[in-house]
Amino acid sequence: FVILSYYWLCPLPAMSKFSDDPTPWLRTMVYSSYYAGVRVWVRDKELLLPSTISSSNDQILILTTDYGEVITLEQAEVNRLKVFPMHPSSISGVEDMSTLAELHEAAIMHNLFLRYQKDLIYTNIGSILAAVNPYKQIPGLYASDVVDVYSRHHLGELPPHIFAVANECYRCLWKRHDSQCVLISGESGAGKTESTKLLLKFLSVMSQNSTGSPLSERTTRVEQAIVQSSPIMEAFGNAKTVYNNNSSRFGKFIQLHFSQSGSIQGGCIIDYLLEKYEHREMYMLADSPEAYHYLNQSGCVKDRSLDDKTLYDSVMEALKVMEFSEEEIRDVFKLLSGVLQMGNIEFMTAGGAQITTKGVVGVVSDLLGLDSFQLSEVLTQRSMILRGEEICSPLTVEQATDSRDSVAMALYSQCFSWIIARINQKIKGKHNFKSIGILDIFGFENFEVNRFEQFNINYANEKLQEYFNKHIFSLEQLEYNREGIHWEAIDWMDNAECLDLIEKKLGMLALINEESRFPKGTDYTLLEKLHSRHATNPYYVKPRVADHQFGIKHYAGEVLYDARGILEKNRDTFRDDILNMLKDSRLDFIYDLFERVGSRSGDETMKMGTARRKPTVSSQFRDSLHALMATLSASNPFFVRCIKPNMEKNANRFDADVVLNQLRYSGMLETVKIRRAGFPVRRTFQDFLGRYTVILRERNHATREDVRKKCADLLSKCDVTKKEWQLGKTKVWLHEQNTFIHFETKTFVS
Ligand code: ADP
Ligand code: MG
Repeated sequence: FVILSYYWLCPLPAMSKFSDDPTPWLRTMVYSSYYAGVRVWVRDKELLLPSTISSSNDQILILTTDYGEVITLEQAEVNRLKVFPMHPSSISGVEDMSTLAELHEAAIMHNLFLRYQKDLIYTNIGSILAAVNPYKQIPGLYASDVVDVYSRHHLGELPPHIFAVANECYRCLWKRHDSQCVLISGESGAGKTESTKLLLKFLSVMSQNSTGSPLSERTTRVEQAIVQSSPIMEAFGNAKTVYNNNSSRFGKFIQLHFSQSGSIQGGCIIDYLLEKYEHREMYMLADSPEAYHYLNQSGCVKDRSLDDKTLYDSVMEALKVMEFSEEEIRDVFKLLSGVLQMGNIEFMTAGGAQITTKGVVGVVSDLLGLDSFQLSEVLTQRSMILRGEEICSPLTVEQATDSRDSVAMALYSQCFSWIIARINQKIKGKHNFKSIGILDIFGFENFEVNRFEQFNINYANEKLQEYFNKHIFSLEQLEYNREGIHWEAIDWMDNAECLDLIEKKLGMLALINEESRFPKGTDYTLLEKLHSRHATNPYYVKPRVADHQFGIKHYAGEVLYDARGILEKNRDTFRDDILNMLKDSRLDFIYDLFERVGSRSGDETMKMGTARRKPTVSSQFRDSLHALMATLSASNPFFVRCIKPNMEKNANRFDADVVLNQLRYSGMLETVKIRRAGFPVRRTFQDFLGRYTVILRERNHATREDVRKKCADLLSKCDVTKKEWQLGKTKVWLHEQNTFIHFETKTFVS
């Protein structure tokens, strides 16, 4: 039972072409085709609503929209193109949306909905795979015989599926002789990480099959290790959030290196921006989680859908497969425990912050191999070396709490990096042929309050969108060439200018970094500079009221960012005295984690430029993003767009406005826009004639040879200038959707 909350909010293309009225005889014909049961689109202001005709007579037409609203229209309104028939492809749903005769937002969404109702969660839109999260197990969807069937068919021969993408990717390694990549995007909870795992599963089966029996031991070990890296990374890098019970708090790019014979030789994982700032939701491996300050803050400790015991076992199993030693595992768990206990250290004011939970400090010190006196000192006062002399200043309770949290965060994030490095060590192998890369990265974000994290995430998405657009654009051009259609410079805006605003010389990133290096820089001086330098940029938004925000007009919409906290997060300063204390740890594990961490020159003692500067967070991120783009640009891409059907993590619920938002953010509609800018409507000669031959006032009995000519005659009757259409090798190409709708309405005879 699909619960409908099904309403479209679909803006329409420009309506200029609708002004001329069809001739009277056509008007009557059109109207007479609307009888009960006929599926139509109804135009309601700027929206297109899928509807069914309930009844009609000479004067009025009564329709029911798919979300239950009843609309009554007079004949004149109907003739003013308030109603137009739904194309059969939209009525029954199609596997590839680029074959939809009607290519607009409403039609795309309706198609996704029709398929979702039947548990068909995968749909193609040209070369993109859209995957709607079912929030339930669909029986048999990923069974091993399904893997088998998809591995033996080409893309397009079987219904859309993530395995079809994986298989095509694998085949292309040899077909095209270049590296492949799969870009998976979507909101939190949309199914990116699950899709990643399914791709890995398919590819590792292919790899195993390629070696033929007996399996080489080395290969099986690598495949197993790659598959087993997921539970470990999830245990440490994922959190339970309101959006997703298993939300990845980091982006990742997994590269699989293949041999000429098709087996996985090794792999490599690159992680992006672990979110350290919401660390308190992050740890899952403790008894009685309510007892810990860092865990009981989130309000979502227990979840019926998660079995902690089983999860724990699977992580332990994975750690064993990865050959983490008993000692390493013990070190990691001690660190985790130390971090958790650290959160329970409390302070009170007595001439500066004083620790009230001395016992906890003792436990933490034991677990982390620290000196408990030194730890107490560092948490309650700050020491600096000024002109060769040590100067101590007491901290307030708030500052002490901050320093406590920053120690915990540093420990956790270093540990995470160590785990990724350790996994990479295990899975690395020869790299002598081509690779398949899988990118599982956060989609575009726009929250109530958007911070530094959102700025970086959206910057990454803007970059990926640029890559996506280029790819779609070139595919489009290829299609024109194939059909022999003249390609004119298409009038379509890409996102280059917005990217320039962010990353070009003197752009926003440069300003943020400049201000971060400035000892006296604050979030407000930053904001002033941003405003004064970019206020005239059409992609920059200077809000009228808010005095702590700046905005960017992204491809997916305008986002306002809160400037407060940006500099601190970007500097990611770590107090030297805290760092030194950690380096003093008696435990080799802790010492090793911090051994190579350099301090920043943020201290007043250091003259600018003299110390080895630690790069800022955003410049590190920009560099890793550029490196990623370089890899992607040298690869043949596949795109998977994950969509969540509702915000409640429910099965069988399709919330149209939730989906529409994602369609926009995903850039999928950009494909439609690129297409619209040229000749968006493409119909085979036969199909076209079949429906419009009435204009020629003769029966359609064209032979194969003269269908093309008949199409030309027909089109010339409607537009002698030939501006609105072209004939390809197999298809009629029409300029705008409007034209087509116009055709439809003029000539539709049931
Ligand atoms: P993301 O990585 O995009 O944040 P996840 O991949 O973690 O989202 O998916 C969130 C949850 O949705 C999963 O834990 C799982 O319960 C469910 N889910 C996602 N994809 C599927 C699928 N293909 N089939 C069944 N359930 C799924
Ligand atoms: Mg994820």
